Amino acid sequence: MSFVLPELPYAADALEPFISKETIDYHYGKHHNAYLTNLNKLIQGTEFENASLEEIVVKSDGGIFNNGAQVWNHSFYWECLSPTGGGEAEGTLLQAIVRDFGSFESFKEQFTTAAATLFGAGWVWLSKDMKGILHITKESNAGNPMKHELIPVLTIDVWEHAYYIDKRNLRPAYIADFWKLVSWKAAEKRYKN
Ligand code: MN
Repeated sequence: MSFVLPELPYAADALEPFISKETIDYHYGKHHNAYLTNLNKLIQGTEFENASLEEIVVKSDGGIFNNGAQVWNHSFYWECLSPTGGGEAEGTLLQAIVRDFGSFESFKEQFTTAAATLFGAGWVWLSKDMKGILHITKESNAGNPMKHELIPVLTIDVWEHAYYIDKRNLRPAYIADFWKLVSWKAAEKRYKN
């Protein structure tokens, strides 16, 4: 089985001015695509040849994990963003955020701090555990919360390639613009599932 690059849920220039078409062309067209190409090569002739991407993320390690999780993480990240995103969480998800972090503002502050302070390359996640309790976790490199029995609700990619074209070294500026694009609708759907 060979994995294919999922289509972007919007046009490459749809997230402008916050994320440029050039960033999407590189991030989706080159980085995401390269992880996919590597994964398809690496799984040939291994026990993961016919595995689902989720299975690969949960069970593999080494190069297969790194590339497989990067494929999964990026597909998920694109779905976390929307040209009509931004604002605040609503409904059931907002209630859970207030319950677990005190307020929406406090959640946003904690998630922003986690994203700003993650050293090097990685991902910051909002996930729910088996009881529906929300957690913010920092993962280095290709790390994914499904490895720790958590279900991802929202993520931000803080690898430099996610923002270097638009923001150079200014990760905080990228995080500030990320909030203007977050698809709370998609996040709430995942929380409810
Ligand atoms: Mn990335």
